[in-house]
Amino acid sequence: MAYDFDLYVIGAGSGGVRAARFAAGFGAKVAVAESRYLGGTCVNVGCVPKKLLVYGAHFAEDFEQASGFGWSLDEAQFDWATLIANKDREINRLNGIYRNLLVNSGVTLHEGHAKIVDPHTVEINGERHTAKNILIATGGWPQIPEIPGHEHAISSNQAFFLKELPKRVLVVGGGYIAVEFAGIFHGLGAQTTLLYRGELFLRGFDGSVRKHLQEELTKRGMDLQFNADIERIDKQTDGSLKVTLKDGRQLEADCVFYATGRRPMLDNLGLENTGVKLDKKGFVEVDELYQTAEPSILALGDVIGRVQLTPVALAEGMAVARRLFKPEQYRPVDYKMIPTAVFSLPNIGTVGLTEEEAREAGHEVQIFESRFRPMKLTLTECQERTLMKLVVDAQTDKVLGCHMVGPEAGEIVQGLAIALKAGATKRHFDETIGVHPTAAEEFVTLRTPVGA
Ligand code: FAD
Ligand code: NDP
Repeated sequence: MAYDFDLYVIGAGSGGVRAARFAAGFGAKVAVAESRYLGGTCVNVGCVPKKLLVYGAHFAEDFEQASGFGWSLDEAQFDWATLIANKDREINRLNGIYRNLLVNSGVTLHEGHAKIVDPHTVEINGERHTAKNILIATGGWPQIPEIPGHEHAISSNQAFFLKELPKRVLVVGGGYIAVEFAGIFHGLGAQTTLLYRGELFLRGFDGSVRKHLQEELTKRGMDLQFNADIERIDKQTDGSLKVTLKDGRQLEADCVFYATGRRPMLDNLGLENTGVKLDKKGFVEVDELYQTAEPSILALGDVIGRVQLTPVALAEGMAVARRLFKPEQYRPVDYKMIPTAVFSLPNIGTVGLTEEEAREAGHEVQIFESRFRPMKLTLTECQERTLMKLVVDAQTDKVLGCHMVGPEAGEIVQGLAIALKAGATKRHFDETIGVHPTAAEEFVTLRTPVGA
């Protein structure tokens, strides 16, 4: 049967755009539907605007430290509205770039909400289009637990568009978004409390990293409340929020920001008209080729709930495009050694196994760790310390994991990820000449294992 398109992609986010562009480049007839914003979460309400706000927040400490280098400044003033307006302008520019990328690569763009009406047909803006394959790349959406008063809370989606910087912010959650936004609000001058239900935030990260960040944030004056959870939120007559915790304590805030994970975006997508199955957590179930239970339908990115990171969605998009239209170039996505950064202040950078994971996997491990005051701070009052840690297999000498908390940790760990992917041993690290004077050189000068 002749179809209108070879591939119909639903969602012009990180994964969808990558798959659509490359499929079109391989000669396929491709359409992509987008209901909200070109570039998806990452460009509009994720990585990009978040990093811009992190840069904004970082200036607070730059100004503070400048006096140690002889600079004198009048008291620095911050204007939230200017930051948000400039951020919006940049995002608009990026939206335009995404539109050009799609159109110039020959992809047909349909703007509107797409619904699957049968395994080969998508309906959008009252029109039906058929396709040999449909790709679900609809991403995720913030999930706020339905406690009484949850309607008074905001998520990351709203945080990027607040009219003013709240004076008192309560951030709920202990994952990437909570830690990053707590740093943004705190850095920009809001009185910030981070509330997490467990013992210590950033579950799944290396234990030394979690503890180190806890110490650094406490030093900076952020209020960290662990083993704490909200029972209800009440709006008071003056507009402020009264937050009652499960242990009976009460806190007041002007803004309660929930960052408690993301659900797959499947709203009104029409999956009931297909054989697509969901996994236990409600994400779209796919096999190793991103094939759903419905033979003509594939899915990738946040909606499949594997690793919710933009570069992973991009790699999956590329893999799908190649498998369908350039099979001779197909290479499966390698989910091992995915480097990642948390853009907290200070940053976390990590790749490979944590010490806990390495021990659990049965490795006999050697740990190399260094904590030091970065050189830039030696002329300042700032007592911030950097952490660097290597997890090494004592038998094979292979470096299993690298972890860092400190300035530019994300930048540093990207290069280390290449080394680990290539199977680098501790000896390779030792034999690598450092770049001096940098913080990164510490990774090649760690000589004595912890406890030796
Ligand atoms: P998305 O980018 O979410 O794209 C899905 C698109 O589908 C959206 O544009 C949506 O409007 C559209 N859509 C949904 N349903 C329909 C429909 N029925 N019809 C038409 N269109 C539809 N990752 C990093 O690697 N680094 C970071 O620093 C980082 N920071 C983040 C910060 C925040 C606050 C958040 C929320 C996420 C962050 N992420 C980060 C994660 C990253 O944004 C996601 O992993 C990535 O965007 C997933 O890409 P995707 O293609 O799966 O989905
Ligand atoms: P995460 O899954 O990272 O963290 C969710 C946090 O919320 C956890 O601490 C979790 O606790 C807690 N939580 C979950 N449910 C509840 C609840 N009902 N009540 C109280 N606390 C709860 O999700 P995020 O929303 O922070 O981010 C989503 C994903 O987006 C990330 O996992 C990451 O993949 C991606 N992202 C990446 C970034 C980057 O690369 N820098 C930045 C931002 C997002 P517990 O640990 O106890 O389960």
